[in-house]
Amino acid sequence: MGKELIIGSHVSMSAPKMLEGSVLEALSYGANTFMFYTGAPQNSARKPVSELRVEEAKRLMKENNIDISNVVVHAPYIINIANAKDEGIYELSKKLLKDEINRTSYIGCKYLVLHPGSHLGLGKEVGLARIIMALNEVLDNDESDVIVLLETMAGKGNEMGSSFEEIGYIINNVNKRERLGVCFDTCHTHDAGYDLVDDFEGVLKEFDDNIGLKYLHVVHVNDSKNVRGASKDRHENIGKGYLGLDTLRKIVHHPLLENTIKILETPYINDKAPYKEEIALLRENN
Ligand code: FE
Ligand code: FE
Ligand code: ZN
Repeated sequence: MGKELIIGSHVSMSAPKMLEGSVLEALSYGANTFMFYTGAPQNSARKPVSELRVEEAKRLMKENNIDISNVVVHAPYIINIANAKDEGIYELSKKLLKDEINRTSYIGCKYLVLHPGSHLGLGKEVGLARIIMALNEVLDNDESDVIVLLETMAGKGNEMGSSFEEIGYIINNVNKRERLGVCFDTCHTHDAGYDLVDDFEGVLKEFDDNIGLKYLHVVHVNDSKNVRGASKDRHENIGKGYLGLDTLRKIVHHPLLENTIKILETPYINDKAPYKEEIALLRENN
């Protein structure tokens, strides 16, 4: 018998219950953790943290044995710290990242997931240099203990972070690398070309060689609507895509990933969240 899985899904946070409602939603799925956005993922409009009902949420978590350090925050998508085209947006991205780190720290969460960004056609070298510069500026001036998790991406368009080499390169060049980690998205890495179905051991080895498994803290557990290497980023429900239930179960129960937090981001089915059923399906391991 291995350790109990730490598994949940992304959940919403909306008025009037705010974060307390997020906890209730997670509990309704039989989850023991969850991921949330501190506002709409597409924009940076954020309510003050004092209005998020954090104390009520924390009480509810405590009563239900949810460890807040396993609860994950996802940064808004509009942050692009790889942007070298527009200094205004680059500066704004750094500010938004800083704000989001502060919010995460105030709430009491440990992990903030961040998309590495888009080089907007200027090339990966330029993008990497920008990302490293931004992370150094933000983290060198931050005293919290929030860990920024760079998410593995599908490589759609000019998206950065679709290879372990790139992510390893970023981490190795940031001064406070102890403040960085990785969120491994199964749909994205498959879409980026990694063979999770037939060679997950090889993928883990490659991750370890290029980044180091100690940096891996969160796994986004998603099936994929597309074939390996499609660079698409379209999530599918568990067992209904090109990864399949067996592969996703093997990943979720992998002994080397025992301490990682598993978060589902699969699509709704007929306007209904599939997470209760999908979490139950993944917990089974025979
Ligand atoms: Fe993401
Ligand atoms: Fe993801
Ligand atoms: Zn995705």
